[in-house]
Amino acid sequence: MTFHVMLIPTLDCPSNCSYCWGSKKGSGMMNIQIIEDVVKWLKNFREEPIHFTFHGGEPLLAGIDFYKKALPLLKNGEYQGAGFSLQSNLWLIDDEMAQLFHDYGVAVSTSIDGPQELNDYQRGEGYFEKTMRGYEIAKAHDVRVSFICTFTSYSKDYYDDVYNFFADHGYNIKLHAALPSMRDDNADSWALEPEEHGDLLIKLLDKYLENLDKIEIKDFDHLCKSVFIRRGTLCTLADCMGGTFAVGYDGNIYPCYRFVGMDEYIMGNVKDHPSMEDLMESPAWEMLQKFKKFVDEDCKKCNYIKFCRGGCPYNAINANEGSPEAVDPHCAAYKMIFKDITDRANKDFLNSSIPMPGMSLPKKVDKNKKASIMDLMLKR
Ligand code: SF4
Ligand code: SF4
Repeated sequence: MTFHVMLIPTLDCPSNCSYCWGSKKGSGMMNIQIIEDVVKWLKNFREEPIHFTFHGGEPLLAGIDFYKKALPLLKNGEYQGAGFSLQSNLWLIDDEMAQLFHDYGVAVSTSIDGPQELNDYQRGEGYFEKTMRGYEIAKAHDVRVSFICTFTSYSKDYYDDVYNFFADHGYNIKLHAALPSMRDDNADSWALEPEEHGDLLIKLLDKYLENLDKIEIKDFDHLCKSVFIRRGTLCTLADCMGGTFAVGYDGNIYPCYRFVGMDEYIMGNVKDHPSMEDLMESPAWEMLQKFKKFVDEDCKKCNYIKFCRGGCPYNAINANEGSPEAVDPHCAAYKMIFKDITDRANKDFLNSSIPMPGMSLPKKVDKNKKASIMDLMLKR
């Protein structure tokens, strides 16, 4: 897995999505000195290339001058190369920013939950229009943009409309399930129950297999690949600890963006240029190791442990009132979708012209017939 550093310029956000727990009004703003320290901290820190994701809150609040300085500094750091992505609602993008993101190959993910009416019901009046305006600006500068679609306890009942909206426009998506939060209760009533989540994934996978040529749903590509190679290829399906860190606006280092702003999860600060060993001495690291140990024991009889690894530690700790001795409460959803994928794969093998190890792979998905799960497993 690539070494991943998430940069959180601020937790502030101009939007007011009903179920959001990741933003904090009035949060501080990262200055360029922090980026300079990030570059010094990462010098000789790891062997792998680094992928930086700007996340928030709303990262574009940091402004064009910040990105004009930050991108070249990060790009030219003394490590094995750097890639970039940005997660933003795109309300604040303009031509200058879009061109800069194009020039640095920044891949953008933006959040839309489906058709305008449904999206604005969940994310607030006017959200859809502002985000789609930003999308058009980004596209005009040839920036790669994909969508993040969050399913809630409300939108799960409209999954057909949501799916058709993205497929009809040819928009590629990543799926999120609305989650409860450790930071406030706002999100709880929108959160998807694990069984609802599993059921939704199975229904969406079925629809996806009908038109792989129209749309890409990254989660299913990863889930199927993970089952096939028996190793998780998404952070939630692997041991994420140590493979990802997040840096808050003040330079504090956390295990992941989900923990940013929670003092008990601060592992160090970029100003001190901590080594991996320093970070491993923090109570937050110890907490995550306890999670890992718990998973090794609790999930050891599960058929899916190799490519699930207990799911997301944030979800687990959150659901267990701050204790790491738990697995992700969406375990039931993971089991449902992994079983569905495995059953489909077994059926494909029985019926099929599937290549055995060592044989050549099918070249392309036949657009005129429903794809098989093996088409997804072998997708490049
Ligand atoms: S804590 Fe959860 S979201 Fe964060 S990197 Fe780990 S698995 Fe991914
Ligand atoms: S599906 Fe559930 S039991 Fe199996 S590894 Fe994942 S969290 Fe553990």
